[in-house]
Order: sequence, then C-alpha cells, then structure tokens
Amino acid sequence: MTVRTRFAPSPTGFLHIGGARTALYSWLYAKKHKGQFILRIEDTDTERSTQEAVDAILNAMDWLGLHYDEGPFFQMQRLERYRDVAEQLVKEGKAYRCDCNKERLEEMRKTQIARKEKSRYDGHCRTQHLTAASPHVIRFKNPTQGDVIVEDKVRGRVLFKNEELDDLVLIRSDGVPTYNFSVVIDDHDMQITHVIRGDDHLNNTPKQINLYHALNLAAPVFAHIPMILGPDGKRLSKRHGAVNVMNYRDEGYLPFALLNYLVRLGWSHGDQEIFSQEELIQLFDLDHISRSSASFNASKLLWLNHHYIKTLPSNILQDDLRFHLQNAGADLSQGPDLEKLITQQRERYKTLKEMAQGSLFFYKESPPSPDLIKKHFTPSLQKTLSEFKEILLKLSPWDEAVLHACLNDFATQHGMKLGELAQPLRIAITGNTVSPPLNHTLYLLGKERSIKRIEAVLSNINP
Ligand code: GLU
Repeated sequence: MTVRTRFAPSPTGFLHIGGARTALYSWLYAKKHKGQFILRIEDTDTERSTQEAVDAILNAMDWLGLHYDEGPFFQMQRLERYRDVAEQLVKEGKAYRCDCNKERLEEMRKTQIARKEKSRYDGHCRTQHLTAASPHVIRFKNPTQGDVIVEDKVRGRVLFKNEELDDLVLIRSDGVPTYNFSVVIDDHDMQITHVIRGDDHLNNTPKQINLYHALNLAAPVFAHIPMILGPDGKRLSKRHGAVNVMNYRDEGYLPFALLNYLVRLGWSHGDQEIFSQEELIQLFDLDHISRSSASFNASKLLWLNHHYIKTLPSNILQDDLRFHLQNAGADLSQGPDLEKLITQQRERYKTLKEMAQGSLFFYKESPPSPDLIKKHFTPSLQKTLSEFKEILLKLSPWDEAVLHACLNDFATQHGMKLGELAQPLRIAITGNTVSPPLNHTLYLLGKERSIKRIEAVLSNINP
C-alpha cells in the first residue's frame, strides 16, 4: 500500500505555525514511506475563504520547501461530486432532507440549553421523506446507539457515544457541503491512507468514521497531534508573538531552521535537536509524537537559526539573504558575491535580516554621519589617512593577507596602535563602528570603492 497523506488548510488566513507543523508531519510521513503528499484547499466556507489566503498558504508552503506531489485541489471545484454522494445516501435511507427553518432550529436550541441538554438537531425531519422541491439541507442519519471508536495513532483508543453525536448537515441549502462531509469524500477519493491533523479535530473524527461506515468505505489511519501552546500554557496565538509562518521569513529565519524547530515541537528522537532533512525523513514516525502539548520557545528557534546560518552550504542561504538585502535597499549589481559575503558573515549573525543589515554597506553607499566624522577624525588623522590611501592605491594584489600586512606595517611605521588606524578607516568604509575585520571588509568592498569612500570622508573632515 502506498502511503498518501495530505494537508488540507482552509484558506481563511495566512499559514499558521501550527498548520506548518501539521503539514510538515504529513510531508515527512509521506516522504519516509516513499509515498505521496497532497495539498487540498478546503474552501467551502465561502464567506471566510479568500484567494489572498490561498496565495499566502501556497507561498508559505513553497518557502518552507514542503512541496506537494498532487494538488492543490479545491473543494469548491468538486461540488457535484459531494452532491452526488449525498443524493446516493438519501436514496439509501442513510441521509434525509430537512427543511427546518432558522427560527425552529433556534427555538430548539434555546429549549435544549434551558434544559441543560447538549444542543443538537432533534430529528424532526428524519421520517418526513421530503422531496427536493423546496429549499432544504441534507442531514446524515447518525446512528442513535452504540459507540464509535477512534483508534488514534497518537491518542490511542478514544470512545465516543453515538447518542452524543448530531444528525450533521452534509449539504447546506446553497448546495455547498460541510467540512465533515467533504473531508470524508475527498480523503477517500484522493486515496489518503493517513490523516495527520491537529487534535482540535478529534471530536470530528467519530462523525467522519460514521460516514465512512455509511458509505461502506474503510477509514484512513488517524493521528491527531496536540496543539502548540504559548509560554503561558494557552493555545499559541498572536498574543505570544508571530504565528504567521511568513513573519519568520521576514524576521530572517531560515525555512529549514523553522522546520527543524517545528518537528521537535511534539515529536522526538531521544534528545536529538538537530536533524538534516534526510535524517528527519528517515527517523520521523507517528509512534513518537507526544500526547501532550508543546510550548513554543522562541530562543530555541533562534539558536537553531544561528546553527543553520553557520553550517548550511552558502548556496542554500543565498536566496533568503538576497531577499533581505533587497528589502533593505541593497543594489546587488555591486558588492561582493553572496557566497563570499556569507562565508565572512555567517558567524556574526543569528538571523539573515541582521546579516543583511550588517552587510548593507557593501551594496549601498553608507557614508558616516557628520557626528561620527566629527568624533573620530582629527586634522592630523586626515594627513595619515591620505598617506594610507596612497599606499592602498598601489597595493597589489588586493587580498586579505596583503591588506592585513599593509594595515599592520603602516600602523607600526607611524607609531600607532592598529585600532587607531583601523577604527576611523572602518567608519569611513562602512559608515559604522562595527564590521567584520577590516582587511576582509576592504577586500570584499574592492579597491576602487574602498578608496572612493576614504576620499569622500577626507573631503568632509573640517580642519
Ligand atoms: N480544513 C481543516 C482545517 O483547516 C482541515 C482539517 C483536516 O485536516 O481534516 O482545520
């Protein structure tokens, strides 16, 4: 049997951190078993679904590298299929038409609440055998007795009483199916073998299992993963910080750092924290998903991000770094190539956004402020820097070792500490008081641009 998993978001907003973890688990499980991972957009909530949200979800999946083998499928393009199945169930006496109006349903609800009963449909239309003539919904004849057993891969055996379940609406009066119905048809039609989803859906599962039974279909394997919590133990939400996957991109996180972080939020392989993608695919399993909720820990994510900035091949970091540099206003037609830049900068920054900001002076003119010039440049320094500039002009080859020797020799010959020469130079070159070692910075900036920047500052020093 080929393993087929799916991620089935409702396009009512951006891709949430919790959704990304669900998608990751489904993706990993399919990859591990050399199966297929399917993306299905559950857009039947027509009021809340938007194209913008669809695009946001697709972009986030793409950025995370969670590529799907099939889809995206859209439920709103499959309405006919759901209606056909519902009609079939009506024909077989397993579902029925119901024309109870809002007022009646509301009245019923109020009475039930007053009696402290669970609010549910009272079965009024079950035996009416209404025809399709007037507006109606189609309801499922949920069994009234017995239990439904969910054998969950994470939660174990969970028992639900049919008495507790409702005659749920399958097709609304506008012909659009409800979630519990369309999900069953789709998971069957798309031959999904393992449904991995958040445990906020555990209560829906017995309804879906009853539908599988009514349709004489085998249900898939279910694995309900616990929610992600904030540090205060409440369900992770905006209050705790960013929950939109793409905010993490904007803040300079690497997709793989986020995935590595998310995988451990609810799954473990001993104490191992860092995994390569291949390792994850090989090691991931449903047996080691935790039953209890995990708390989001931003500093651990940052630590992982730094680890991956330091260790991933620079060609993998390049696309994201380019994004941040461009956001910061860099002109990438000048300045060092990104691979060289990354080699130089990777130890210094925990996020790519910070790396881009700290490297912007290579790609954008960044003259020091008049205050900095005033503070660091004296007229006597002006003379020294002019001399040094003349030496740089003749320097060959322009490389780190030669620049290193040149800086040291010049300082020694002029009875200066290296810092006394390097700090004003650094300010002239970068517009800032911190930068990578100066010989590397000069090398990466290039001879011509370095000299130009020194000249610009020289001409701005007021004697
Ligand atoms: N559309 C549902 C959601 O976004 C998916 C539930 C499922 O995976 O079955 O919560």
